[in-house]
Amino acid sequence: MPSSMFSLEGKAAAITGGGRGIGRGIALAFADAGADVAVLARTQAEIEAVAAEIKAKGRKAVAISTDVTQSHDIAKAVKRAMEELGRIDIWVNNAGGEVGFVASTLEQAFAVPTLQIEEAEWDRIFAVNLKGCFLCCQAAGRAMIERGGGVIINTGSLAALTNAPGYAHYSAAKAGVMSLTLTLAAEWAPHDIRVNCILPGLIATPATSWDKLPPPLGQAMLGGIPLKRWGLPQDIAITAVFLASEASSYITGSCLEVTGGLAMHV
Ligand code: NDP
Repeated sequence: MPSSMFSLEGKAAAITGGGRGIGRGIALAFADAGADVAVLARTQAEIEAVAAEIKAKGRKAVAISTDVTQSHDIAKAVKRAMEELGRIDIWVNNAGGEVGFVASTLEQAFAVPTLQIEEAEWDRIFAVNLKGCFLCCQAAGRAMIERGGGVIINTGSLAALTNAPGYAHYSAAKAGVMSLTLTLAAEWAPHDIRVNCILPGLIATPATSWDKLPPPLGQAMLGGIPLKRWGLPQDIAITAVFLASEASSYITGSCLEVTGGLAMHV
């Protein structure tokens, strides 16, 4: 098995939410694997910093200010990425989350009752996690169908596989991402577009700070993970490299758990 099967040499990729956390990890891993990368998110300083890191690795990079809930932003981003990189072979829908984890004790951890979720908050979480993914899939899919193929990787969550008290809006939106993945994989297989989804477990990022939880809560949560460590952005990034590369050429419509074994319990 040649290691070139895992290479992204000569490929161009776009990553939403590429400015920090998991998205930044994926953007840098793609560059390490040989790809040129368009880094998309709203915070200009963060996407420019990641683009600079990619250029320092000798790859092309472009930072494109984009709000994934706005279709005109996405259309502009696709156009700009095509102009700067010449093509889009891989599109990663990683932007999302946006639910604060604020508990400091196990008792508080899952205590944001569904009855307290405002309608506007439900819409906001669905807009960034599901509508944004749909709009980006549509825009990237169009460009890939025209070009004759490509790879789309969506980001679900362990929360979509189980009950998630306190996160009804988020888990439902991520379940929608899984469903969208299966439908698009079936619709676009004839166009040689593979569509897969990664389901991260508890990954330590600026959004979650799992690794910085106060000890009683942190230890209790860590105790439930069979591999006994928090996930790192690199754990998701290496999975994304696999799903973007030729090594996974027979995989489409898959939702791959990267949870340190936590998904076994749900
Ligand atoms: P972070 O908050 O660290 O990063 C989120 C990224 O998404 C940022 O770059 C942010 O940039 C961008 N983003 C947010 N909203 C928008 C928007 N409307 N348009 C464009 N970009 C946006 O989150 P994580 O790295 O922790 O999470 C990344 C993904 O992984 C999310 O989809 C999340 O749901 C999922 N996930 C994470 C888990 C974890 O434990 N960390 C577990 C399961 C799933 P900006 O604000 O500048 O736009």
